[in-house]
Amino acid sequence: MRACALTAAQTLEITDVPDAPAPGAGEVRVAIRAAALNHLDLFVAAGLPGVEYRFPHVVGADGAGIVESIGASVTRVTPGDRVLINPGISDYTCDFCRAGEHSLCVTYRMLGEHLPGTIAELVTVPEPNVALIPVNSPALSWAEAAAFSLVTLTAWRMVVTRAQVKPGETVLVWGIGGGVSLTAMRIAKLRGARVVVTSSSDAKLGEARRLGADVTLNHRTQKVPQEVRTLTNKRGVDVVVENVGEATWDDSLRCLARGGRLVTCGATTGPKVTLDLRRLFWHHWTIMGSTMGNAAEYAEIVRLLGQGHLRPIVDRVYPLDQVRAAYERLEKGEQLGKVVVEVV
Ligand SMILES: [Zn+2]
Repeated sequence: MRACALTAAQTLEITDVPDAPAPGAGEVRVAIRAAALNHLDLFVAAGLPGVEYRFPHVVGADGAGIVESIGASVTRVTPGDRVLINPGISDYTCDFCRAGEHSLCVTYRMLGEHLPGTIAELVTVPEPNVALIPVNSPALSWAEAAAFSLVTLTAWRMVVTRAQVKPGETVLVWGIGGGVSLTAMRIAKLRGARVVVTSSSDAKLGEARRLGADVTLNHRTQKVPQEVRTLTNKRGVDVVVENVGEATWDDSLRCLARGGRLVTCGATTGPKVTLDLRRLFWHHWTIMGSTMGNAAEYAEIVRLLGQGHLRPIVDRVYPLDQVRAAYERLEKGEQLGKVVVEVV
């Protein structure tokens, strides 16, 4: 099958690779139509420390397509169904999985990172990792469907399950061009919060206002903690949504109100930060991590999608043979919304 694969360390190529394996009893093989890029894909292409790949390694976490074949015990989908793919693969047997916390699975793996990915004509996944594409009006494009799962699941768990954002609270979201940030903003708005977003691009901030942001700050030309203090009568925000890491961490804490919650799912500028414990306990802060989400959360976001909420925002769509340009757009941070690759 045609696929985008690492053929050696840091060498991405469109190439022919063996077909994804025929589905086992509880598995589904999907003919991919479109795949969406995430920061994870940049990390995989650059080489993750401690991860060794067997080349060729097919990349890509997000995807959507048509069920091509199913294993003997599969009941929820049949060949020909149009499906979304949840790229977080659990064993569905460990203590965490049995407690319903699939993204805490002791063998949790991501498509394209630990397993063959979605920028390929075929991918094989466990049955619980596919969901029928809901009927929307107008119908979801393949690009939109591919762009849905990773960022929506991640942002939903951060904003709803972990930070438990409530109506009337103020939420700060850094870097609104990123898929998780943009989706977190929209989910916080759905929950009735007031949302402050940042970007270094005034054009992106304008677009964010159109999509519902209450306050926009240019973090290149404005001092975010000072602006936040002014906006909140010196109180600070109730929740900070982080995925930037080193570059924003200190300012994130400066923005946080007493009793505030900081939730993080990423460290795109670096993973090492400092924390003054005296400020943590004196201000009653809560700092929480979050990765992907569980099956119940995935079912919930797919249900909301069917109701017309959280329709993915696609930045740009590239044909498979221009996959490098797609990676470059994400690398340079030029996008607002998802960068998608059409596989077929
Ligand atoms: Zn498990």
